[in-house]
Amino acid sequence: MNAAPSFQRIALIGFGLIGGSIARAARVQGLAKEIVTTARSEKTRARVMELGIVDRVVKTNAEAVKDADLVILCIPVGACGPVAQEIGPHLKPGAIISDVGSVKGAVVRDMAPHLPASVHFVPAHPVAGTEHSGPDSGFPELFINRWCILTPPEGTDPAAVDRLRAFWTAIGAKVEVMTPDHHDLVLAITSHLPHLIAYTIVGTADELGEVTSSEVMKFSAGGFRDFTRIAASDPTMWRDVFLNNKDAVLEMLGTFSEDLSKLTRAMRRGDGEALFDHFTRTRAIRRGIVEIGQDSAAPDFGRLQTSAVKKS
Ligand code: NAP
Repeated sequence: MNAAPSFQRIALIGFGLIGGSIARAARVQGLAKEIVTTARSEKTRARVMELGIVDRVVKTNAEAVKDADLVILCIPVGACGPVAQEIGPHLKPGAIISDVGSVKGAVVRDMAPHLPASVHFVPAHPVAGTEHSGPDSGFPELFINRWCILTPPEGTDPAAVDRLRAFWTAIGAKVEVMTPDHHDLVLAITSHLPHLIAYTIVGTADELGEVTSSEVMKFSAGGFRDFTRIAASDPTMWRDVFLNNKDAVLEMLGTFSEDLSKLTRAMRRGDGEALFDHFTRTRAIRRGIVEIGQDSAAPDFGRLQTSAVKKS
């Protein structure tokens, strides 16, 4: 079931961090005879041509999907519906249509009505990324040892799901299947809420009257620096995530607010035991993440210090 699949033609709509990484990884693994791509702007298309990673860069989405047996939308979640409408009539019967959006319920809702019954719709979300975007930001190792969640609608041909699973496995990912709603709930707490908190805290620090922005930057401690990295993520992508996974994020935000109130109360009352117990529990979660290989235990999360690297 997991032998590396070979596609005659893969079409990637959008060539940013995720599309560019898929193209690079598929190329390295030899998963396609031909990779065709397109992007919204002439500027990105020209840059992709220069990079020379794909076989063809075309102008329109319709042209990109022509005769492709795997089509992956690598564009912001909010753009998936209109693009599905555009490509629907041009899809090859039997083709697998997928995406990489960070929200799944809205993508299924927006794309499914535009896809002909003759294609296999298997939405996907690689839980892998960086704060960078654009055609130069991708790299072939991005998905290695990262999860890719598939959320096929009920009744999807299991053979198509297996083929897409094998594709993601071949480029290094571990694959799990779940329903779109469950995906959105899980990601609301593991990814979307943390981003909302990072966007908030960095904004708050920026607006503080009594501490200047230059002091915030100069004295940024590890915790704040990690928030700034997350808060540097692409504004379009994250606007679409919050607009399209509103209910699940609001639900998690409610629980988060209650927990924040509990910690605030413990601090106000000088309840060191409550604080200590809480921090001990969260430390165990961090250890668990390292133990299952989802992060490194090296100081500063294993990130190289650019200045140190330059000096040595
Ligand atoms: P990115 O680097 O900003 O690239 C986005 C690509 O989509 C660009 O090629 C862009 O074209 C194209 N695009 C933007 N708006 C479009 C529209 N309205 N119609 C057609 N194409 C459009 O973004 P990314 O990080 O690869 O994210 C792409 C998708 O992956 C998003 O759905 C995101 O939720 C998901 N995702 C991201 C991460 C992450 O960490 N970044 C992780 C997992 C999943 P131009 O360059 O011409 O503007």
